[in-house]
Amino acid sequence: MFTCTGYASTSAEAPLAPFTFQRRDPGPSDIEIEILYCGVCHSDLHTARDEWGGTLYPCVPGHEIVGKVTRVGAEVSTFKPGDLAGVGCMVASCRECDSCKEGLEQYCVPGFTGTYNGPEPQTGGHTFGGYSSHVVVDSHFVLRIPEGLDLAAVAPLLCAGITTYSPLRHWGVKAGQKVGVVGLGGLGHMGVKLAHAMGAHVVLFTTSPGKEADARRLGAAEVVISKDPDAMAAQGETFDFILDTVAAEHDINAYLGLLKREGTLVQVGAPEKPLSVNVFSVIWRRRNFAGSLIGGIVETQEMLDFCATHGITSDIELIPIDQIETAYSRMLKSDVKYRFVIDMASLHKTSLPEAA
Ligand code: NAP
Ligand code: ZN
Ligand code: ZN
Repeated sequence: MFTCTGYASTSAEAPLAPFTFQRRDPGPSDIEIEILYCGVCHSDLHTARDEWGGTLYPCVPGHEIVGKVTRVGAEVSTFKPGDLAGVGCMVASCRECDSCKEGLEQYCVPGFTGTYNGPEPQTGGHTFGGYSSHVVVDSHFVLRIPEGLDLAAVAPLLCAGITTYSPLRHWGVKAGQKVGVVGLGGLGHMGVKLAHAMGAHVVLFTTSPGKEADARRLGAAEVVISKDPDAMAAQGETFDFILDTVAAEHDINAYLGLLKREGTLVQVGAPEKPLSVNVFSVIWRRRNFAGSLIGGIVETQEMLDFCATHGITSDIELIPIDQIETAYSRMLKSDVKYRFVIDMASLHKTSLPEAA
């Protein structure tokens, strides 16, 4: 075991604060990474504040990790100290079930281990995420970071990137199709960039009129203010595919009605309360309403390589870790342009309880 520093919440109401904890030393198949950057996902906020239930405290969020390898176990041949490495939302899975064998570790039947809030058998506690100095991960779950990209702006690809890439690929989005993206936040802005790079005609739906120019710059051909009923009606029954990234309660039927016959709406945003689907929204025109969870490890590497080929990274605001609560407040006001990323060098500048 070795001592790490980080930021944790100790209850649903407590703000994140400096925290010192133990991690396991790398085992034979593990890699230890010194964290350089960690993206701030809305799931971090949902979990830190126990909005989905089941949060284990203390909670160290963070699953968009980019860093430098510092130690590797004896069996690891894929990485060596000094290499760049990435870690997303998963740090382990059974590796034996049908999903794992197909490279779909995110759908592991007994359940994958989350980068935070998952079981950590080696310490007997739970996993701690990337708002910290180091992480120790089985090498199977460590991603290779392509050369030539801005490292801080790569971090959000590890969750926001793969969560939008995977459904676009799974449902076969291709050039010439009309694709809607709902919400221009962390996931949404990656959805716009990726769907545009795949050749789709991208329409961004937003509640924030001030984001229109950015949406066009990111690759949207059209921008619809979702509060404008006439603008919504003008899009009726024209979409092949819609990706909904909204983190709060909203009217899903307004978007289902925009799909063509047999079109698909994939929900990736995860509001804490259930969404209400009017069955006639899907019965009519034989439409599909589906969900999608992050992406497997092979597909995450494919996404990183796709981003390198197309010169895609996230548009970020780099913050010191002591600004995390301000970042969360802005996230709740839809004021994210378009992903906060923590500069982990700032961790060494904060005064930590036992680590001075
Ligand atoms: P985010 O950066 O906060 O973006 C969410 C966007 O949704 C906002 O920027 C806003 O865009 C829109 N929005 C927010 N409140 C709204 C409301 N009341 N009505 C309509 N639109 C609203 O969050 P994120 O990090 O992208 O995450 C989005 C959601 O995806 C979260 O629930 C997160 O937990 C979930 N998630 C799921 C997966 C998965 O595997 N399925 C993975 C990661 C995250 P506009 O200003 O453009 O309207
Ligand atoms: Zn996430
Ligand atoms: Zn499995």
